Amino acid sequence: MFQSVVSLSWKEIAHRRRAGFEHAYRKKTTAALLSLLALCACAGPSIEQVRALPPNAPPARFLLTFDDGPSTWEPYNPTRAILDALARNSVQPGIKAVFFLQTRDPRAGGSAAGRAMMRREHAEGQVLGVHSGSARGHIDHCLMPDAELARTLADAKRDIAAITGRAPDLVRPPFWDYDARTLAVYRGLGLHMLLTDVSANDGVIYFWNVSLRRRAHIRDELATLRERIAAGKLPVVDGVIPVVVAFHDTNTYTAHHMREYLHILTGEAADVGLVLAPEPFYGGAAAIERAARARALAAGWQDRPCP
Ligand SMILES: [Zn+2]
Repeated sequence: MFQSVVSLSWKEIAHRRRAGFEHAYRKKTTAALLSLLALCACAGPSIEQVRALPPNAPPARFLLTFDDGPSTWEPYNPTRAILDALARNSVQPGIKAVFFLQTRDPRAGGSAAGRAMMRREHAEGQVLGVHSGSARGHIDHCLMPDAELARTLADAKRDIAAITGRAPDLVRPPFWDYDARTLAVYRGLGLHMLLTDVSANDGVIYFWNVSLRRRAHIRDELATLRERIAAGKLPVVDGVIPVVVAFHDTNTYTAHHMREYLHILTGEAADVGLVLAPEPFYGGAAAIERAARARALAAGWQDRPCP
């Protein structure tokens, strides 16, 4: 049921959002949702169902990432709201994250407002990575010929370097699609691909079902992740195990609930027995870059066909 919305085109999603589709739908189905919430709240695996962590296992730390931005929407700009929430919240003030950017989309980094937001991100110690460097926007890398893919990625690296003073080396492709060909192009440009361990599932229109089920969904993903940690499958970097979490900073729902998401992540980690570091989120750009790079390099991406 949740996957059915994925087939919507981005234009369609934007249109529906502007038309208030989400709001109308949410009102209409409130009663049904409350029942679904009750079901979802008890759907996660129990601690007993997951393997015990080895003694003295390093603690985990959340490595937050955001795709698709910077947003240029006004008056409520979700990227700005998320930056504010990361800087000031009751869980850990001054959280740093990786923002995978669209540097040439006119609705994102390809505008004066978008570049100003990228400068703010950098000034606040956030890490800037590549999502898309195409002026055509959020184009699947699998659909681009080698020359166009290499050119747009090189443009994105230049756009980010113009703000940060050095070229980025992290990439997360649109739709998270890749294959051996696109991986080779990334390698040729010195870009390491970072996908995610935990997804907030906020990359498409945010029906009530996604938002109401988010806590159970995050708990499920953390329980699965705890299994991988128990099996020694995740690298330790600077004494902690980086756990990558993906959001979309163009998502107004995410922006409105960012502080709540921080509580959900730490609360659900405790619920599944995932031990977190005293600082459960990254607080410095250098540490987050080391962690992101290590996770990207350790992933050993397997060849797979583009969808
Ligand atoms: Zn994207």
